[in-house]
Amino acid sequence: MDQIELMKELHVPSGKKIILLVMDGLGGLPGKNGKTELEAARTPNMDTLSRSSMMGLSTPVAPGITPGSGPGHLALFGYDAIKYQIGRGVLEALGIGLELGPESLAARGNFCSLDPASGEITDRRAGRIPTEECARLVEILRQITIDGVNITVQPVKDYRFVLVLKGEGLHDGLTETDPQKTGLKPLPVKPLRKEAEKSALVLNEWLDKAFELLKNERPANGCTLRGIATNPNLPTFKEVYGLNACAIATYPMYKGIARLVGMDVPDAGDTIESEIKTLREKWNDYDFFFFHVKKTDSYGEDGNFDAKVEVIEETDRIIPDILELGPGVLVITGDHSTPWALKSHSWHELPVLLHADNIRTDPVTEFGETACIMGSLGHIRHTDIMPLAMAYAARLTKFGA
Ligand code: ZN
Repeated sequence: MDQIELMKELHVPSGKKIILLVMDGLGGLPGKNGKTELEAARTPNMDTLSRSSMMGLSTPVAPGITPGSGPGHLALFGYDAIKYQIGRGVLEALGIGLELGPESLAARGNFCSLDPASGEITDRRAGRIPTEECARLVEILRQITIDGVNITVQPVKDYRFVLVLKGEGLHDGLTETDPQKTGLKPLPVKPLRKEAEKSALVLNEWLDKAFELLKNERPANGCTLRGIATNPNLPTFKEVYGLNACAIATYPMYKGIARLVGMDVPDAGDTIESEIKTLREKWNDYDFFFFHVKKTDSYGEDGNFDAKVEVIEETDRIIPDILELGPGVLVITGDHSTPWALKSHSWHELPVLLHADNIRTDPVTEFGETACIMGSLGHIRHTDIMPLAMAYAARLTKFGA
């Protein structure tokens, strides 16, 4: 019996609500003054909260493993991210609100520029064409038809689009067509297993037709497909935890991850203020809220220490609004680290704050990576967080007699 099965057996109803506040890419590394982004940020509300919380450090997926946001969040939601792997195409499709049935294949598409003579890629992102141009090209690609296959193409942002194919016998296990560098031609889709042979034929037919339709366009006269995958049909939050769950997020991909585990995803605008407003509006309708803050990660990726600090400070200012609602459990952490110094995701542990009744406090009086080393949660894994939140929300019954 794994943890998901155990949670399915042990969960019981309770009136206590859980909030999981995720600052994307929260974990950092020391800057000029020897403090990390979180430590340098003025966070009076989180610091005060730390005095009545259990603190610790959490490893997202496994020691030394740098996760994407998909596995980072799945682990936070209590799912073994190595067991439940999700294709990028699926995340993108769900993120823009497309429904994926059991026989749907989703791929993330990138428009690219090809040398008209050789067919080799000259720019993998077609000069980062604007979203409006992407939408116009997608409209052209919508002319493509294939017998027995229902095709959906949707623009995402800049040069990115999503392709979803629905039809009998479409399975995943397929290679990507982006050769990952310029000077090479886009690759054909190849099946990695027998069941995926039909999918490869269909996708290559779609690609042939797409290249024909795009050939006179500039700069985007080609496209590549990545992360071709089917919906993994994960057990839902309702099944696993008995929770009616709501996701409050502003970016498509995080909404998509939440939908994968059966969370409702209301429109939450695109600022932290509109997110907190949504939380207030939905408070009475759900038991669990995943509250996502994106910009900490974006500025970490930019290597912008000060801007990441500002987003953390902005998030700190909504803590009183959250506490006013009276959550039974409030967890604050991140999905993975995105240290300014690395300008990318990393494997570093994340600081965790768990605020609830009936806790053992610890000597930690501020929310920061170094301070959390002394916390009573110690070193945990992201998959430990949901069971702890469930226990402190009085939502788990005794295991065994
Ligand atoms: Zn992330």
